[in-house]
Amino acid sequence: MSLHEKSIAELAAGLRAKAFSSVELTRHYLRRIAAHDATLNSFITVTEEQALEQAAAADARIQAGDAGPLSGIPLAQKDIFCTNGVRTSCGSKMLDRFIAPYDATVIERFKAAGAVMLGKTNMDEFAMGSSNETSFYGPVRNPWNTELVPGGSSGGSAAAAAARLCAAATGTDTGGSIRQPAALCNLTGLKPTYGRISRYGMIAFASSLDQAGPITRSAEDAATLLQVMAGFDPRDSTSAEEPVPDYLAALGDDLKGLKIGLPKEYFGEGLDPAVAKAIEAAIEEYKRLGAEVVEISLPNNGLAVPAYYVVAPAECSSNLARFDGVRFGHRCADPKDLEDLYKRSRGEGFGDEVKRRILVGAYALSAGYYDAYYLKAQQVRHLIADDFNRAFEKVDVIMGPASPTTAFKLGEKTDDPVQMYLSDIYTIAVNLAGLPGMSIPVEPVDGRPVGLQIIGNYFDEARLLNVAHRFQQATEWHRQGPAGY
Ligand code: GLN
Repeated sequence: MSLHEKSIAELAAGLRAKAFSSVELTRHYLRRIAAHDATLNSFITVTEEQALEQAAAADARIQAGDAGPLSGIPLAQKDIFCTNGVRTSCGSKMLDRFIAPYDATVIERFKAAGAVMLGKTNMDEFAMGSSNETSFYGPVRNPWNTELVPGGSSGGSAAAAAARLCAAATGTDTGGSIRQPAALCNLTGLKPTYGRISRYGMIAFASSLDQAGPITRSAEDAATLLQVMAGFDPRDSTSAEEPVPDYLAALGDDLKGLKIGLPKEYFGEGLDPAVAKAIEAAIEEYKRLGAEVVEISLPNNGLAVPAYYVVAPAECSSNLARFDGVRFGHRCADPKDLEDLYKRSRGEGFGDEVKRRILVGAYALSAGYYDAYYLKAQQVRHLIADDFNRAFEKVDVIMGPASPTTAFKLGEKTDDPVQMYLSDIYTIAVNLAGLPGMSIPVEPVDGRPVGLQIIGNYFDEARLLNVAHRFQQATEWHRQGPAGY
């Protein structure tokens, strides 16, 4: 088996047994990036020199018998995480030349665990998008079929992980950006409970919704990454003080008696019938594994996309106000005065989708409209969370599709923002409620991957990983990779 086909546990065992070194493994992945990324465009920055230094340091630690959980494992980091001394662009011209002066907590934790960073992955500009077409660095292609989008906004991470250009990657999910690209690229993607992973040093899009998480080839690998990423951080005031369980320990638990809720709203109009069939077949597999299925209702799900497109733009218009051409980021040439500096720096630095959201957000927050839009959307958010709370009185997990369709063609939805926004119709409510959600591969449709979404109660990530892992032990879908990689 070549190195890039191995799971993280297999790689860690090989490193410990000295079957290969981290420097060899890192070079192997760097060669793969060099061979394939001209087509895929999944990386914005490849940090070759730093990766080889980290690999050599990991080899020394392994040699000394002091290996961390991810020692010597090559990962790719979404370019939304600040990385000390390395360009952190967030997919935007605004930050094209921004070198972060410190590490995000997530990055710091991976470094402490001994992981190697291969580079920073492409993404929709400021994480706004569902297809990775809003990036200043150009679109990412889906390795399953390069005419298709990989999903977004963590599209670079998903394409890199699917093409085996890294052992695993990180993503962030504000309305679906881990689960949807994972679904479209046949990967396992986990968005944890809001507050589970520190947002310190993660460039903010919509602060009350943003959450980081792993994008991997299996639930087992996801458990290993989450173990490192999760935990309280005093530098993020919304970080949860909840203890972090042993995520690997619970993976093998029996699913007998597991109660799965199927929301009738997730299987109605708008869902591609072929995707519905693949999801139903996966549910049948869960029944064989001992689970019971209950029909439930999330009556306010239809309000999730509209509420999100008030809350997320409102928060983004406030978060992105810091990019003013003064402190950091793009600055226009020869400003006449301060107002000219603001206007042209922002006008030149931001792309169209970001501008659209800033305009909508500023409008929704303006005097006289705040109550009608922002406050209303926050009330709807409560209704949505209450729907889930009621459901979790009856069931252990909720299942459905992660995305209404399989991957679509590049350019297919770029002129129709509303169609693009509807890609997240099954994922967005989960962010509004702050719950954990996951997507795992099921049977593809016409060679295009399909993701099953598993939603859990607050801080129930261990159960989600267990439910995903048992399915992956019984099936082979997650092992499939795109041809030619
Ligand atoms: N597609 C959604 C948006 O455009 C979600 C993005 C995300 O989760 N970062 O806002």
